Amino acid sequence: MPLKTPEEYLESIKRPVNLYMFGKKVEEFWNHPIVRPSINSVMKIYELAQIEEYKDLMTVKSHLTGEIINRFTHIHQSVDDLIKKVKMQRLLGQHTACCFQRCVGFDTANALYSVTYELDKKFKTNYHERFKKYWIEVQTQDLMVDGAMTDTKGDRSKRPKDQPDPDAFLHIVDENDDGIVVRGAKVHQTGFLNSHRAIVMPTLRLREGEEDYAVSFGVDTNEKGITMIYGRQSCDTRKMEEGKLDIGNFKYGGQEIFVVFEDVFIPKEHIFMKGEIEFSGELVNRFAGFHRQSYGGCKVGVGDALIGATALISEYNGTENASHVKDKLVEMIHLNETLYSCGIACSSLGFQREAGNYEMDMLLANVCKQNVTRFPYEIGRLAEDLAGGIICTMPSEADMNSEEVGNLIEKYLSTCENICAEDRYKVLRFIENLTMGVASVSYRTESMHGAGSPQAQRIMITRQADLEEKKKIAKRILEIE
Ligand code: SF4
Ligand code: FE
Repeated sequence: MPLKTPEEYLESIKRPVNLYMFGKKVEEFWNHPIVRPSINSVMKIYELAQIEEYKDLMTVKSHLTGEIINRFTHIHQSVDDLIKKVKMQRLLGQHTACCFQRCVGFDTANALYSVTYELDKKFKTNYHERFKKYWIEVQTQDLMVDGAMTDTKGDRSKRPKDQPDPDAFLHIVDENDDGIVVRGAKVHQTGFLNSHRAIVMPTLRLREGEEDYAVSFGVDTNEKGITMIYGRQSCDTRKMEEGKLDIGNFKYGGQEIFVVFEDVFIPKEHIFMKGEIEFSGELVNRFAGFHRQSYGGCKVGVGDALIGATALISEYNGTENASHVKDKLVEMIHLNETLYSCGIACSSLGFQREAGNYEMDMLLANVCKQNVTRFPYEIGRLAEDLAGGIICTMPSEADMNSEEVGNLIEKYLSTCENICAEDRYKVLRFIENLTMGVASVSYRTESMHGAGSPQAQRIMITRQADLEEKKKIAKRILEIE
């Protein structure tokens, strides 16, 4: 059975890569305290797939090989698959309370599967078979794959071909019978370092004259010519201090990488689009649609952890029976479940593409993500409200353990009987982490900009919603000819 254990996954990513952090080259990144929590998050995916209780969500039979595979490598074959995807993401959010990174390649594969099929139909190319072959390797080796979309974009008022620096958008710079050479950068790359492979896609709908930018391909993340620079997250150096409590979520974390491609060679068999500008927009939209669906699962799971911590701190503070506290917790749950409803709804209205795979409802996926750009902020606001200002004034763990002042902190941090000061400290740091620390990247800013910033969804909502039809509805009722 092609399912890696978490330990096998860890061993498989121990390879030399060209990684920089704080201006220095990093060797053996898997031992680095800032990186390690993000690896732990991915290992959790491999771990849950081994546990009987979670097998129905975490694993599935591949339509390509007939074998049982990790769902993160699956091409959706039904509406049920789409729903289970969202449920699985909520489950992982609950287990890690952060971004577990493996959805990007998953969503890319599902978008490419149908796009390559339609590309071949129109241009008599053979991208679809190529892609299937590539993806069977991913399924049978249980590989983690990143999806790389976001270019640096340079001057936003200019098209890719008009940029002062042509590399502002990743593009083909050379070509021979064996393959192509690409140059550019992809930023905000979730989990790139933890992935075995990445699939690169264009960042926007391309026009005539921009064929070199309409390129999609698979590449090993340690390929010659790739440089990774580790993205900072607020409070990240707390992970390098002694002790762990100040980190908040001391076990798990997300990961964002700035990835530069300096003349990277891509062999023909790993190219899935080359110059077909007509399909670049479709690839972008379908990937974004799948990823916007994903947020109706992952962010809800993280929301569950934050709501749980907020309820816990109310209990520890002795405020849990106050009516306004109960009401604020209800509001948090209501907002979180609304996001989940959107994730489930866009999955339930999924449909079959000509290639045979299933895709979520585009309008509802965009509505889902639009809500995700807002509700986690309100949930976070309510969490801060109930936790109290102490989340940003508390002394350090070192002070708590100090011989001189530790007893004072213990005495004055204690609240109700049977609640130990350390547990209260842990929960407060966890809420700090989710609302303004490292995990706020995964929970707040990523909710805003991940899978596209709010305006990108509003454009798609405008395109998908048939306003003319709605006018007709009003006219029919009012008997307007
Ligand atoms: Fe997955 Fe959510 Fe992270 Fe995107 S933000 S990779 S959907 S966990
Ligand atoms: Fe994301």
